[in-house]
Amino acid sequence: MTPWEKLEILGAAASYDHSCTGTGLSPELPATLEGRRRLPGIYLAQTSSGRKLPLLKVLLTNRCRFHCAYCVNRAGASGPRAAFEPRELVEVALELWRRRLIQGVFLSAAVERSADETMERMLATARLLRRSYGFSGYLHLKILPGSSPELIKEAVHLATRVSANLEFVRGATLRRLAPEKEKRRLVAALVQAREAALEAGKSPSLTTQVIVGAGPETDYDYLRLAQNLYRQGLLSRMYFSAYLPVSRHPALPSPETLPPVIRERRLYQADYLLRLYGFTYEELLAPGENLPLDRDPKEAWAERHPEFFPVDLAQAPYEELLRVPGLGPKTARRILQARREGGLTFEGLRRLGVRLSRAAPYILLRGRRPPTNLHLF
Ligand code: SF4
Repeated sequence: MTPWEKLEILGAAASYDHSCTGTGLSPELPATLEGRRRLPGIYLAQTSSGRKLPLLKVLLTNRCRFHCAYCVNRAGASGPRAAFEPRELVEVALELWRRRLIQGVFLSAAVERSADETMERMLATARLLRRSYGFSGYLHLKILPGSSPELIKEAVHLATRVSANLEFVRGATLRRLAPEKEKRRLVAALVQAREAALEAGKSPSLTTQVIVGAGPETDYDYLRLAQNLYRQGLLSRMYFSAYLPVSRHPALPSPETLPPVIRERRLYQADYLLRLYGFTYEELLAPGENLPLDRDPKEAWAERHPEFFPVDLAQAPYEELLRVPGLGPKTARRILQARREGGLTFEGLRRLGVRLSRAAPYILLRGRRPPTNLHLF
């Protein structure tokens, strides 16, 4: 099998891991090699600043000895299998890099003979890229479940970002659906990665993926876990992956079930509220609850808290502005700036980025409600 044929298999196999991209192939990618419109394995990742980054997202191998019931690559599942030699994968990556088709690499793998043996091969790939070929682009390495601390340490040194997938919140779900994984060791990998980054004088850049809709976890469970990990500095970002039914298993939704994509979107919105808007998970949900699907979580919070509104844009502090539907951190900062310059008017709000159709019921300006013909401005 040629390396490009392996890429067909191992690029597609990586599409199930959302811990860097959150999305699949994108039509926004550049025209590709050999006249093909798209290449397997190229995905768009979004950076924290919102920039889109085309990445080669690929598995080193999809031969797995684990039996995670929700995974297409599990031992015993049908489907083509392949594995790259580190040097082969480096050649593929450098070719795509030279042709400006990618700006980085996301490298993951199934657990072939053991976590450490596969992780060693991933690190050999990363060493070749970084040290032998001077690859300076974005490099994201997956920490395989059960990897030894010294390998985690080296991954942190070589990579721009590392991730360790927690998969589920509850240990019981993990035991049922991923019998070889241990929650304690998955969390320990994040702790070890953080320590390695701090020791190396790097700011820890750690992500994880959880699977939504495969087990009994509620949105409350996911957001509570996310907030706790953010507060401990163990996570930069949690990625939510709507479960794609790939197998028949008594503990999984039936293969006919549609992936819960709206639920996934609401979780991303709520996660933004935790990371950037000063909300806590307790404010958004009670134990056992899921987010409403028919409106975004901030709007749902505003509807439940009429006592908080209206917020006067001419006086409210930044933290209160952030709670108004239709206002984000950038818009709130612009409002403060316009206030300092004395130029805050209803007519100018749209220019500042305020989404008036959403914000109007919740705001005042110097004690006045927005005019009803606000959409004209
Ligand atoms: S370890 Fe589990 S999730 Fe990862 S590739 Fe193997 S079966 Fe899939």
